[in-house]
Amino acid sequence: MGKMRAARLHEPGKPFQIDAIEIPEPRPGDVLVKVKTCGIIPNMNAIVSGKYWHHLPPLPAVIGLDAAGVVVGAPKGCPNVGEGDRVYVNPFLNCGQCYYCGSGTAMLCSDAALRGYFGFTPRGAKLLEDYPIGGLSEYLTASPHHLVKLPAEVSFEQGARFGYLGTSFAALRRAGAGTGSWIAIHGITGTLGVGAVLLSMAMGVTRILGWGRNRDVLGQLRTIAPNRIDTLALGDEPLKDWVRKRTDGVGVDVLIDCTGRGGPAAPVAEAIDCLKRGGVMVNIGALAEPLALNPTQFMTGALQYRGSNWFTNAEAALMAEMVRVGALDLSPLKPRVYPLEQVNRALADITERPGGFQNFVVTPE
Ligand SMILES: [Zn+2]
Repeated sequence: MGKMRAARLHEPGKPFQIDAIEIPEPRPGDVLVKVKTCGIIPNMNAIVSGKYWHHLPPLPAVIGLDAAGVVVGAPKGCPNVGEGDRVYVNPFLNCGQCYYCGSGTAMLCSDAALRGYFGFTPRGAKLLEDYPIGGLSEYLTASPHHLVKLPAEVSFEQGARFGYLGTSFAALRRAGAGTGSWIAIHGITGTLGVGAVLLSMAMGVTRILGWGRNRDVLGQLRTIAPNRIDTLALGDEPLKDWVRKRTDGVGVDVLIDCTGRGGPAAPVAEAIDCLKRGGVMVNIGALAEPLALNPTQFMTGALQYRGSNWFTNAEAALMAEMVRVGALDLSPLKPRVYPLEQVNRALADITERPGGFQNFVVTPE
């Protein structure tokens, strides 16, 4: 079919190389997508370092987690997608065979993988052989079941952010956040945190509190909705006191923890005291340090601590619909677009922690 350019990881921890490789041939029933954008996220450097538990695809591998593009080849009679459709390619791959897949709970698949990124287990990494092309390429193939249609109101740059937006969205939904909720976001200034704020606004959350370290971003967040959003620079005041002053003395219904792998657990433990009785804390940042919990506090306060990993296609479609009708405003996200040839530059720049309003995107065009 001809050649295309793709950013490939040849050796963990080394820069990507731009290689000319064959345009992939779709498997039976699959579609060919011309990639317009692929998101670059803060955790990507850690994953491709190969230093952690994640199971990388066979190398050299075309990396790239969240791609958006246009369908340029679809099988005849494909009911839900056709040529010319603008799509987000959901990178979540489930095995289809384990207990969870067989029970209709594919999001809990014990051997899942994220295309262009890693497998959660060695068997999960095998799924990457069926879909070996990540988003940092000119074309990729996908099952129609992995595609989420994007209306014209969702830009390709915004589509490339759907992975992290969807992660925050699913966590808010699992925690029951909505009209009347008071929520707090631990790590509000990062990619997940800023997304959680925009989605909370769209979901009707009444009070959005949060803290982080980047004072510029904290200030920007407040300007989105000064009556609903309030922020604190971590360390300026004890979290519990600050939150209770803003919640009639009782605390928040939902605490979203966006602390990433390298972050400290101690402030997260402190944040638990910000929960209202009956409140829910959700971990989406993949905090790696052990967290000290007081089980008696959880029993007597009927608290919940849970995790939330990724999101369903239906949730991604719902986000797209929320943008289309104007309920979800993604305009505060500022695209920072790099050509494919500068992907290593994008990965270096994102380590400087520019804050979650910056939307790092690579385009092969
Ligand atoms: Zn499975």
